[in-house]
Amino acid sequence: MDTYDVVIIGAGGAGMMCGLQAGRRGRRVVLLDHASVVGRKIRISGGGRCNFTNTGAEPAQYVSGNPDFCRSALSRYTADDFLELIQSHGIAFHEKTLGQLFCDRSAQQVIDMLVEECRAVGASIVLDCHVRAVEKKERFLVRTSAGEYSADSLVIATGGLSLPKIGASDLGYRIAKQFDVRITETAPALDAFVFSPQDQRFFGELTGVAVPAVATCGGASFREQVLFTHTGLSGPAALQASLYWKKGLEVSVDLLPDTSTDEMLKWFAQQKAAGSRANVKTLLAQRLPKRVAERFCELGSVTDKPMAQQSAEALEKLCRGLKEWRFTPHGTVGYRTAEVTRGGVDTRELSSKTMECKKVPGLYFIGEVVDVTGWLGGYNFQWAWSSGWAAGQAV
Ligand SMILES: Cc1cc2nc3c(=O)[nH]c(=O)nc-3n(C[C@H](O)[C@H](O)[C@H](O)COP(=O)(O)OP(=O)(O)OC[C@H]3O[C@@H](n4cnc5c(N)ncnc54)[C@H](O)[C@@H]3O)c2cc1C
Repeated sequence: MDTYDVVIIGAGGAGMMCGLQAGRRGRRVVLLDHASVVGRKIRISGGGRCNFTNTGAEPAQYVSGNPDFCRSALSRYTADDFLELIQSHGIAFHEKTLGQLFCDRSAQQVIDMLVEECRAVGASIVLDCHVRAVEKKERFLVRTSAGEYSADSLVIATGGLSLPKIGASDLGYRIAKQFDVRITETAPALDAFVFSPQDQRFFGELTGVAVPAVATCGGASFREQVLFTHTGLSGPAALQASLYWKKGLEVSVDLLPDTSTDEMLKWFAQQKAAGSRANVKTLLAQRLPKRVAERFCELGSVTDKPMAQQSAEALEKLCRGLKEWRFTPHGTVGYRTAEVTRGGVDTRELSSKTMECKKVPGLYFIGEVVDVTGWLGGYNFQWAWSSGWAAGQAV
């Protein structure tokens, strides 16, 4: 049996941050991961460039049963702190938009940096290591395909359920259940919406069309692009809205975010008053992609008659349909494509300062396995770094 101070299950972003911090404090650390390489999610993140943090990361951009839970960790290990680490490794980066920081070159640089930092403090990483059982007596004992590991502290950093094909598993939740630690309902999030079969047929021909829009769900609104897919609605604004979506909830989309309903109605009225012979959809195509204009004219039952012959009611209905297009998703695509898992280990079970379980001393949960889920834009990695750092100071 190998004896350590700290065993960390999961060598993703949160696990490695925790490992390197604990190692810096002189703790003997081992990270166990069933994958054959570390940090596979980091590798594919941000389109291969890893959106590794967001300079504006604050509790308001996280969804959780307790929205205040993440405050302590986020304020003690900030985006600036992670940036300092990035800069100390000479990794070039840039801000894309809205405080989102990306590597100039490759996400692999972030992985290499974390591995190097772990090595520098003597934290070992064991790959292809399959956990068979976890026990707690005096100390924690982890039985694996690569032998047995014992430690005073056990950190669960196994991430969420998204992307099982690159190693996501439910081990973290199973360990929580084993120790009677509550879990909030989990669901795929930052995921594309799937339309009802009827909407799929109706909007199917818009596949591939992107529109700047505001998507609203559950009281949260996001202004970015939406993208029609063959099964539903994707694009950053839709993905963000999915974080707030639950079965049965409606999603509302403003497809003309730069123009108010009154301005649109005025514009239509002017065209009408001028006796425009143009068709409504032709006029609308000045402001929206042509195919979108056509579909929404049909949705609003606007006839093919020239503008001058349209009724005021029909034009108002069309405007409202574009400014407040509402649909009830059939679902989201699921863990196969979702960027994150919403929900997880209930924050009421954990100390917000150390991430330690209140009822199981020595057991810690960090990163995505916890019920703290950030918006798109570097917030989820910042949570991985901050929660990993917090546990790293305590284990
Ligand atoms: C396609 C995609 C792109 C993304 N892009 C971004 C982005 O640009 N910016 C951002 O902030 N967030 C992004 N995210 C979200 C981000 O990747 C995660 O929130 C973050 O990686 C969570 O870190 P973690 O360490 O908690 O979990 P993970 O990174 O998922 O790490 C968990 C580790 O645990 C291991 N593990 C799992 N089960 C077991 C088991 N049974 N036994 C042993 N080991 C196990 C896994 O192999 C993995 O190494 C993206 C996600 C996806 C899917």
